[in-house]
Amino acid sequence: MSLTPSAFEPRGKRPPRADSFRMRFVSIRHSRFMEGLYNVFEPAFVAMEPLIRKIGYEKAERPVAVVEKFVKDALFDCRMCGQCILSSTGMSCPMNCPKNLRNGPCGGVRANGNCEVYPDMPCVWVKAWEGSRQMKGGDAIRDVQPPVDHRLKGTSSWLRVMREKTGTATPPAKSH
Ligand code: SF4
Repeated sequence: MSLTPSAFEPRGKRPPRADSFRMRFVSIRHSRFMEGLYNVFEPAFVAMEPLIRKIGYEKAERPVAVVEKFVKDALFDCRMCGQCILSSTGMSCPMNCPKNLRNGPCGGVRANGNCEVYPDMPCVWVKAWEGSRQMKGGDAIRDVQPPVDHRLKGTSSWLRVMREKTGTATPPAKSH
């Protein structure tokens, strides 16, 4: 049986154990702090738009994505979907759900709150709800999210947000 049913999980990665130290659970426990941190980071990053424009979005894409992956992988087990919704999911990355669900849990959540696919892992959406209850903007978890666009996998969400906030046109996602 494959241990990587999700397109967003590294090949061969074993599911996390509930009793192992997982930084992502620490981030979810401190979702209010993470929310505050992001609220400081976002405007500071967006303010760098003229510099990024000067460098060129295409040139900046790879280095920014590398830094973003490093930071968000350490904090959230980020899967670099390229369309980050952490602030709407209690800081629990929905791409860690083996079914990649982005609008709440499946019907298989175990009685102990763990995942039906990975029995030792708390359900991503149970953790998302817990995290969201601590956040000022936590009710965003009720927003309906569009389906995940696999063409954006590996691209920088930070640059995408920068483009959205500054009204810089986002190029259409490339088909693979
Ligand atoms: S139980 Fe939760 S984490 Fe597991 S597949 Fe269902 S929604 Fe995803």
